[in-house]
Amino acid sequence: MQNQLLFAQAGVEHRTHRPQRPAAPLKPMLDATIARLVEASPDLLVQLVERYGSPLHLVWPQNLVRNVEAFRAVLNAHGLRHQIFYGAKVNKSQALVCAAVKAGAGVDVSSIHEWRDAISAGADPQHLCATGPAKTRDFHAELIAGNALISIDSSEELQNLKACLRESGNSQEARKTQKARILLRFRPSLSRTSRFGMGADELLRCLRQLSQDSAQLAFEGFHFHLGGYAHETRAQALRELIPHVETARALGLQPKTIDIGGGMPIRYVDSDDYEAFLRAQHSSHYRNARVPEAFYPYGGRLDAFQWLNRFLESPSGHKDLSIAACFKAEDIALAIEPGRSLADQAAISVFRVTRVKPLAEGHVIFVEGSSFSACETWFSSEFLQDPILVPASNAPTASTTASTEEAGGAGLSSVFRAYIAGHSCLDDDVLTNRLIGFDRVPRAGDLLVYGNTGGYQMDLLENEFHRHPMPRRVAVHCNAAGGFDFSPDDPREQLDDIEQSD
Ligand SMILES: *Cc1c(COP(=O)(O)O)cnc(C)c1O
Repeated sequence: MQNQLLFAQAGVEHRTHRPQRPAAPLKPMLDATIARLVEASPDLLVQLVERYGSPLHLVWPQNLVRNVEAFRAVLNAHGLRHQIFYGAKVNKSQALVCAAVKAGAGVDVSSIHEWRDAISAGADPQHLCATGPAKTRDFHAELIAGNALISIDSSEELQNLKACLRESGNSQEARKTQKARILLRFRPSLSRTSRFGMGADELLRCLRQLSQDSAQLAFEGFHFHLGGYAHETRAQALRELIPHVETARALGLQPKTIDIGGGMPIRYVDSDDYEAFLRAQHSSHYRNARVPEAFYPYGGRLDAFQWLNRFLESPSGHKDLSIAACFKAEDIALAIEPGRSLADQAAISVFRVTRVKPLAEGHVIFVEGSSFSACETWFSSEFLQDPILVPASNAPTASTTASTEEAGGAGLSSVFRAYIAGHSCLDDDVLTNRLIGFDRVPRAGDLLVYGNTGGYQMDLLENEFHRHPMPRRVAVHCNAAGGFDFSPDDPREQLDDIEQSD
């Protein structure tokens, strides 16, 4: 963090010129029901923030259920045996884990805590899959006892698992019945330098061990997970993996499942808007005069379901079959572990404006909350969608021109532009370095609503810095009367002060 602070200070010196022309707007794509709450019920949003504090994360579990169903529809259309595991690390919301379980999905858990939360959400432990390279002994023991699927990251992990089986299966009875269900994590050539998974030689060593100890080690298949968002890289990885399926069979093993991990993309903004933004962007559009080097593909052309379809229609490199046809011909189930794409449209985050302050080069909007609750800037990038300004009804609205003068006389402009800063004393605590255009000047008490924050955005880095309490999550459900019901995100929480509303 120290480096980042120094880095940011260096950036200030480059902040010299005013923008030639404003950055192209990036209107968020919003689910229709969420848009109805934001646009038609601003007073309700203001009341919710009054009651639960700012920032407030509103979680929409029903949208995660809908995403599970949409994945399932693609997999069924191809006639595939399949398993969908919700990549639970994408969000700390328990309501979303419960929604995944309710939708009949399994859960991909990478810690004993994710595991326990999934069990508490009612998941059948046999429908859980544990990935991650650094599972502890206690985690292994719970996974074995629960008969969950374990993705083995290395031959070292396999030795640890075997030791765990030996130690936990002390009684004769346990020794007979305790088995570990195993996937082997493959490292495709595209991720040659990654620390996750195993290359061909190590994979073969593990396959041999599994074939020699089938009493305790139940081999079920292979797993990989790649960074990046291209379906072509997954198709390539699959083509590399198919020969290992043959090898496993030659050793007397029966691979039943191939798990291709997550990374299915979601769309945050219209693709044309996004491309126009990228073409026009300029260092003057950023308060630190620095265009970030990389962004998530916020305005990609494919949604997750189209992506999966493209993947399944790609050549498998095996007997001229498509990937879908190959899975069927080889009687192998396809498993996927979407995180971000299951959380698509499953949360929004609402920040209350504290004040607007003029600076030498423009304005800053201070909000109640921090960039830990909208965290892309901590990865030297930006969340490329504009927050929606929701005026608090009691604040008189001001035209851009009048308030620009009021806010410091920085000049007449048809668009008011500002960056957004959190409430901490860190210079780097900015929700966005990008200067965002508003058609009216935000006032204290107004709300800034960020759409679609469920995927790694809202709570990945949240903490109690400055002793601010952790932001609340509240689950929203539509009721039969067309209104909204609110409940604690975690059903284990007290139903204290949360009420219904219509
Ligand atoms: C993070 C992760 C996922 C989920 O990835 P998304 O990009 O959120 O879909 C799935 N599998 C593994 C092994 C992961 O580490």
